[in-house]
Amino acid sequence: MYKLYPKKTISRQIYIEGIGIHSGEKCTVKLTPRSLLDPAGIYFKKLSFSYLNYYPNKLITPESIYNTDGCITVSDEINRHSIRTIEHLMAALRAHNISNLLIENLTEEIPILDGSAIDYYNVIKETGVIENKIDYIEPIVIKKKEVIIADNNQFIIAAPSSDFNYEMNIVYSVNAAHLLLENKTIEFKYSTETAAAEILPARTFGYLKDIDKLKASNKALGASEKNAVILTDNATLNPLRFPDELVRHKILDFIGDLYTIGRPVIGDFTINSGNHKLHIALAKKLYKDYVIK
Ligand SMILES: [Zn+2]
Repeated sequence: MYKLYPKKTISRQIYIEGIGIHSGEKCTVKLTPRSLLDPAGIYFKKLSFSYLNYYPNKLITPESIYNTDGCITVSDEINRHSIRTIEHLMAALRAHNISNLLIENLTEEIPILDGSAIDYYNVIKETGVIENKIDYIEPIVIKKKEVIIADNNQFIIAAPSSDFNYEMNIVYSVNAAHLLLENKTIEFKYSTETAAAEILPARTFGYLKDIDKLKASNKALGASEKNAVILTDNATLNPLRFPDELVRHKILDFIGDLYTIGRPVIGDFTINSGNHKLHIALAKKLYKDYVIK
């Protein structure tokens, strides 16, 4: 059996400041509670100084993710306003099972903070979460095996849960040309408590040798040791929080990407060499099969 998920929001409006890891710009994200009497939904709105560019609230779904290159970007295809790098905030929202919220941003990107999701998680925890004790959101409980393949070695298999003591049973494997990413596999059993302790503090990462190239193409302009694990040829510039922090961060991204569905997903997941594109492909499939139907 799986648990019930009461509709939840935060107890008051909050502002979180920082810089965008890609834009390098100062940015502030505003989180506003939405009524728990309204249907569940996490919405976003790009703020604008100009009244001529008034943007409506837009529901975040896997279909509203239009770019998965390096981070996920949510966009309104009609008004063409977008906010990028929402995945770590989405992972923190999943950990609290926030169902009703408005995310507003003036700039194109939300703050990267320390490169993980733990600060977002803690700020929401300190702010307080309120719930509707008589109205629940229905989780997606995987009923049949789903296979998403990008190419031969990149795939996700989602399957019915083998252990309902946990919401998700995740086996995540990576294999890239770095000591910390070579044939590494983590098995992780998801609950709010295990996620907060073992996954949400894991930071994003990048290669020192790529940074100049990325910056030349207007990416990772804000990246530094303050908000990412920087990989040298055989080690890291800054100390790791976990020996396998990089793979843990892949799981964090997976959790955040999947929460673009707006509902908890219950099942077993085997992921090999995943990335945002693959995670969102699964989210789209589950959204189509279980939400839109
Ligand atoms: Zn990430």
